[in-house]
Amino acid sequence: MYTPEKERRLIELSKELLSKVEQIRSSGLDEAKRYLPLLREVINYHDYKYYVQSSPVISDYEYDTLFRALRDLERKYPQLITPDSPTQRVASEISGEFPTVKHYTPMLSLDNAYTEEELRDFDRRVREATGLDEVEYSVEPKYDGAGIALLYENDLFVRGATRGDGETGEDITSNLKTIRSIPLKAPFSETGIELIEIRGEVLINKEEFKKMNRERLEEGLTPFANPRNAAAGSIRLQNPQEVAKRRLEAVVYQVSYVLPQDRHPSTHYDSIKLLHEAGFKTPFKDMKLCRGIEEAIAYCKLWEEKREDYPYEIDGMVIKVNRKEFYDALGFTSHHPRWAIAFKFKPKQATTKLVKVVFQVGRVGTITPVGKLEPVQIGGVVVSSVSLFNEDFIREKDIRIGDTVLVERAGDVIPYVVEVIKEARDGSEVPIKFPERCPSCGSKLVKLPGESAYRCINIACPAQVVLRLKHWGSREAMDIRGLGDSTAKALYSKGLVKDVGDLYYLKPTDLLALPNFAHKSAQNLYNAIQDSKGRGLHRVLYGLGIRYVGLTTAKKLASVFRDIWELKRAPLERLIGVEGIGEIVAHSIKEFFEREENLAVIKKLQEAGVKLKEEEPSKGGILEGKVFVFTGTLECCSRERAGQIVESLGGTFSNSVSSKTTYLVVGKDPGRTKLQKAQRLGVKTISEEEFIKMVGLQKQSLFPE
Ligand SMILES: [Zn+2]
Repeated sequence: MYTPEKERRLIELSKELLSKVEQIRSSGLDEAKRYLPLLREVINYHDYKYYVQSSPVISDYEYDTLFRALRDLERKYPQLITPDSPTQRVASEISGEFPTVKHYTPMLSLDNAYTEEELRDFDRRVREATGLDEVEYSVEPKYDGAGIALLYENDLFVRGATRGDGETGEDITSNLKTIRSIPLKAPFSETGIELIEIRGEVLINKEEFKKMNRERLEEGLTPFANPRNAAAGSIRLQNPQEVAKRRLEAVVYQVSYVLPQDRHPSTHYDSIKLLHEAGFKTPFKDMKLCRGIEEAIAYCKLWEEKREDYPYEIDGMVIKVNRKEFYDALGFTSHHPRWAIAFKFKPKQATTKLVKVVFQVGRVGTITPVGKLEPVQIGGVVVSSVSLFNEDFIREKDIRIGDTVLVERAGDVIPYVVEVIKEARDGSEVPIKFPERCPSCGSKLVKLPGESAYRCINIACPAQVVLRLKHWGSREAMDIRGLGDSTAKALYSKGLVKDVGDLYYLKPTDLLALPNFAHKSAQNLYNAIQDSKGRGLHRVLYGLGIRYVGLTTAKKLASVFRDIWELKRAPLERLIGVEGIGEIVAHSIKEFFEREENLAVIKKLQEAGVKLKEEEPSKGGILEGKVFVFTGTLECCSRERAGQIVESLGGTFSNSVSSKTTYLVVGKDPGRTKLQKAQRLGVKTISEEEFIKMVGLQKQSLFPE
């Protein structure tokens, strides 16, 4: 239907028409005759892209501008309207898979207003049609989600459908039932209602949305562009169990049909109140009854200011004539009811060109491709760069340098490439090539199995060194007091330390160069660094920050291999053979020890006298052969410290109760699962007091702070 060449031409034409839209709107008859067929042609094309292919090539705002130019011009010259004009039909096909159902009344979209003047025009038309001097309007936030219609019969939720083409939608009842904000039963019969159809929107709140995208990125999936896309995609999933995991919400804001008909609430306000009181999530608390349009405009403005703080994405405000008795007099256009209008906030999408891609090294070594854009205004902010997340994202969207891209900046979510306008390509676009080496240090990058991100795992990588120094000095690693964020930054920026190995070659006088360091603080940090040399292998392994090697894994590795060079020599199979170490962790360890850069730092540590071996556990300690588990809060000290004491006396410290557990030490507010498990397995429970007695020392001398 549309050849690539034709698509390119239509995109060019759209741009041209958009650039002189004011001139078009004030056309004389002859110019109108020339512009109308062009407008219809581009709008039909954009309808096809949006409704049939679900891949729009212009922003909603640009589409609306074209559509309104067509509509206004046709109003001016009604003799030029043709039956095939996009203004003369409601919508087009919907996709199959779910059974289709017919809505009781058509789900029309609302006409949009972008300026206060347009709202005043709307008010003028309403006043003319109703004969009122001042109209009472209800004003409420316009949620940006996926439209739904819910049907209740004799108080039971019997059917839920998507908006579809407005006449018929898809029956997604089983998916909607998983949404907890949709009551399965609601007390409509109390007000005499036997059947009711309700309109609303499925939403994901901004926090959940961010969480969801973070998780998708971690799982190597492509993040969603905005909460609306996430919601729309979710309600049409084929598996309701998957839908239930998506943390969807539903807000309802319209009663569209009621039986018996005389039970229909007489105002919009009463409709919302009815739904609110029946247990639905509604805009009841956020809606306002306004006397006259000026009050309504003021309320819209107020919300435009606070939209970013609202937990849901809203793209505007809905203004409705409150009293239903006027609806008949006002009637409908073929597209919209005349008794309501949407005031749209500044758009959050725009098209622009991707000029180049740079690769950034994150503080934990993740390589992120960042797209540099031709600067473009989105929602009042100039956007000139955008995260492209990872290689999978780029591949899925087939993003190339030189491409025209549709960019969205939704709320406080970072700018996002919604899609590539492939039809705008002229053949000069260049595929994005991922670097093989770290842009900061040149070390070879790795991509671990099951991950979508490339990483630099060089512990001496300048882009990561401050974070790595801090981690090395942290309490559970080498416990170097005084090596915090600012000191780590200063050590690096003064050129004193390039990796953790350099710490052990510092002299007290070197440290005097640091800001706010005097003789005493320099001597203290020097001593703390020297003291850390003897912490042992598991603390070193943890401190090196090998991906997936947390404290528990580090301890396990240290107890099995005893010497860092033994661990380095271990083949992959041997690593996987260690209890609790899977393939991904094993690969990560292997990759780490294959980097010459990393081995150089380890040698530096060794030559400085940092202990890279683990001691044999003390034999014959008083707790030998005894396994301790702790639950609840201990008064004496942290659980970790208590564990260290157990280990220093030859015992074993574990995090979970099993048949091998000797004692469960119960502190304040103990966990129920551990207690129950201990009971079931016949594990002896003891109090903190008994534990202290058992280790045979005074409380004070045991736990020096
Ligand atoms: Zn690097």
